[in-house]
Amino acid sequence: MYINGDFVKAKSGKTRDIINPANGKVMATVPEAQPEDVFEAVIAAREAFDGQEWSSKTALERQDLMLALAQKIRDKFDFFVELETQNNGKPKREAEFDIDDSINCLKFYAGLATKIHGETMSVPANSFSFVTREPIGVCAQIIPWNFPFLMLVWKIAPALITGNTVVLKPSEITPLTALEFAKCFDEVGFPKGVLNIITGDGTVAGNALISDTRIDKIAFTGGTNTGKHIAKIAAENLKKVTLELGGKNPVIIFDDANLDLTVDWALFAAFANSGQVCTAGSRLLVHADIYDVFVQKFVEGAKKIKLGNGLLSETTMGPVVSKAHFDKIMNYIQIGKSEANLAFGGNGNSENGYFIEPTIFVDVKPSDRIAKEEIFGPVVAIMKFESEEEAIHLANDTEYGLGFGIFTQNITKVHRISPKIKAGIGWVNWYHPTFNEMPWGGYKQSGTGRELGLYGIENYLEVKQVNINLDTDPVGWY
Ligand code: NDP
Repeated sequence: MYINGDFVKAKSGKTRDIINPANGKVMATVPEAQPEDVFEAVIAAREAFDGQEWSSKTALERQDLMLALAQKIRDKFDFFVELETQNNGKPKREAEFDIDDSINCLKFYAGLATKIHGETMSVPANSFSFVTREPIGVCAQIIPWNFPFLMLVWKIAPALITGNTVVLKPSEITPLTALEFAKCFDEVGFPKGVLNIITGDGTVAGNALISDTRIDKIAFTGGTNTGKHIAKIAAENLKKVTLELGGKNPVIIFDDANLDLTVDWALFAAFANSGQVCTAGSRLLVHADIYDVFVQKFVEGAKKIKLGNGLLSETTMGPVVSKAHFDKIMNYIQIGKSEANLAFGGNGNSENGYFIEPTIFVDVKPSDRIAKEEIFGPVVAIMKFESEEEAIHLANDTEYGLGFGIFTQNITKVHRISPKIKAGIGWVNWYHPTFNEMPWGGYKQSGTGRELGLYGIENYLEVKQVNINLDTDPVGWY
């Protein structure tokens, strides 16, 4: 682990094996943090923040370090791509995209370092009134296994560039690129304790971290149930908290859509990263007039997906991340078979890696569990609608509110419908592209707060008002 500028084992000596999901074999062993290790990391981050070596650096100095870090990752690009592929299972071309996007995110926030500014306000009195923005303090950050490196960078870049310090816990399943990232971070020359990375179980190390009263803020990406637990703990200590949680994201496909283009993007929406994406387009709502032809073309497209080890160039979909997750998805497929009609896929193989076919259920009803619950795997539910009103109703008929898609040639329809969808991230005539400049986050049970863009740094800044009396008169109240 990386604590206070040192690479250390767990004090208890406990370790955890890390499995390559493409073959089920142990690929590395990492320390298993216990609360005592977490406390040490929190103390390091606390001292690094309170000592002000980091927060008092000039914005330009922070920018330079962040840019140097981005360059170091770029220099080891192929290494990070292969490691991410092996640990998470995703195809190499998806890992390439993730690492590239992560480097751009580091650069984006490096650029913002010098743009953080205060304001002056004209208040109705003889006062010089100004607002400053200050770092919050020590941030606990907990990330999931679906985009291990990208989520790491989304979390640490805005936190550090604004002068905070961090203790981050990656998923117990996918900690390897985070630990390699720590090496780059260390080599670049950031002060000790500014970033600490602990590896271990969420219910032990994660819980110790979020419960620690010495932290000032919690940022979490992961499942909605874990998010609710974290929100409760954060409320007890009144910590600031941002949560990026799950989704059951609707993709509305109208009869005037360009059909081939729509099928192409809908496949990407549903099956990128084996469907293990919080914004995965896992509910396809298709207009009745094109339903049959859409399903036929969508199934044809799914048949062409090549399942396999992500390191092989022909692979277009990798395994799911773990045996436990494989079992969870296969259970949902069983549920789906009892609720709807299976149009394609449905088979899994966990003898040598954790592979599940792209799986398509049709004629799904809104009340079906596969229409309501986040499966987080390569399983898509297709439903039929007749009218615009019905499409909007179905799209919003979920406890979640993260992503949505609309496919139509009619821009007026897009503007009419988009404000009526209760979700934070929309795509029209494509799906999934993500921009560092744009806010990321959800409505309803998909979370609270926004990451990325200028919105992302607001999560890591306190706002302070100061008012200077420009008169010399006494108040004369008493
Ligand atoms: P979790 O929400 O459990 O895991 C996300 C992170 O939270 C991991 O680092 C995990 O640690 C940590 N964590 C777990 N429990 C606690 C706790 N009590 N206190 C602090 N941290 C904790 O997701 P799972 O991996 O269990 O996946 C469950 C489901 O969540 C998925 O099937 C999917 O539906 C959803 N999910 C959504 C994601 C998203 O991007 N929105 C990402 C991942 C999952 P560790 O893993 O080390 O135990």
